Amino acid sequence: MNTKAYAAYSTDKPLAPFTFNRREVGPLDVKIDITYCGVCHSDIHMAHNDWGMSVYPVVPGHEIIGRVTEVGKKVTAFKKGDLVGVGCMVDSCRECSACKDDLEQFCEKGMTMTYGSPDPIMGGMTHGGYSDKIVVDEKFVLRVSEKLDEKAVAPLLCAGITTYSPLRHWEVKKGDKVGVIGLGGLGHMGVKFAAAMGAHVVMITTSPNKAADAKRLGAHEVLISKDADAMAAHAGTFDFLLNTVPVGHDINPYMPLLKRDATMAIVGATPLENTHSFGLIMGRKSIAGSLIGGIKETQEMLDFCAEHNIVSDVEVIDMQDINTAYDRIMKSDVKYRFVIDMQSLKNA
Ligand code: NAP
Ligand code: ZN
Ligand code: ZN
Repeated sequence: MNTKAYAAYSTDKPLAPFTFNRREVGPLDVKIDITYCGVCHSDIHMAHNDWGMSVYPVVPGHEIIGRVTEVGKKVTAFKKGDLVGVGCMVDSCRECSACKDDLEQFCEKGMTMTYGSPDPIMGGMTHGGYSDKIVVDEKFVLRVSEKLDEKAVAPLLCAGITTYSPLRHWEVKKGDKVGVIGLGGLGHMGVKFAAAMGAHVVMITTSPNKAADAKRLGAHEVLISKDADAMAAHAGTFDFLLNTVPVGHDINPYMPLLKRDATMAIVGATPLENTHSFGLIMGRKSIAGSLIGGIKETQEMLDFCAEHNIVSDVEVIDMQDINTAYDRIMKSDVKYRFVIDMQSLKNA
């Protein structure tokens, strides 16, 4: 079916209008009228081909919220009118050990990403949420509480689960000292979740002017990473660090912050520069990575958000403003997630 969208056509051109065909609704499919879509830094990495895997045109967007407009004959979990979300994945093999363990993001045959993966049904590549509608297998559709502000829920589908999952995996608990590095889309959700889990949260930022916001979001302290004396004063005190920095950077200055045997989990998708093993061997410390979260955990995160009244802090934009939003994100000038109002695309 004919679908309106915005796409990146090459590494260096601005995003522009694009139309393409989505598949018809199959027996297990849910058709969703997209109301809002968040803007993740990964969308920029893909539009710019930072990871060398982009096949143009790229229709980004994996923080999708919308209303169900049609369901396939065999769909049992959703009905017309439901408020639903779609995150970074739209399919996986469902049979491998990762899929059986509810970790579809690590599917051994490769998950089908919401955009930028070969499309097994339509051919070509999958296209994401910078579009007016999407058709997704019900297994990869999430239930969203009507209690929460719909537009502010959108970023939970990527920024939310990507920060919730490592905090759970490394068992952050009440009283732990947790540092969140980088106050952007992911970072601001990391602060909210770590605070809701009872941790003592320290926002570790390069931007002193974000300090007041960091505290409003739930941080108990703010640490300016460029201030060597302040960094030294926190040495050896953190139970866990969550690093969301989106560009190549030197992680050596952060490692001394960790306690013995503690872990820094990296979620930013970027080369690490000149990492020296001293940061690890001194104190038997770990660097780890984490990728979004499985569908079951994503639903758990959305339910946690409904229970604790957690949503993202968003700035709503029109689809036509996407290139300005990208420029601002690149300058770390985002408070704290752009969300596209898809009505602007439908009206165009
Ligand atoms: P974002 O909104 O642009 O936020 C990133 C923040 O990092 C900035 O606001 C800034 O915060 C800080 N920063 C920027 N440049 C820096 C530098 N040179 N040194 C230190 N800090 C710097 O990005 P995002 O959407 O949160 O995404 C962050 C990264 O996670 C991206 O690489 C994205 O692709 C990746 N990602 C990974 C997953 C996953 O599953 N692993 C999922 C989603 C996104 P301050 O101003 O506070 O310093
Ligand atoms: Zn994302
Ligand atoms: Zn699998």
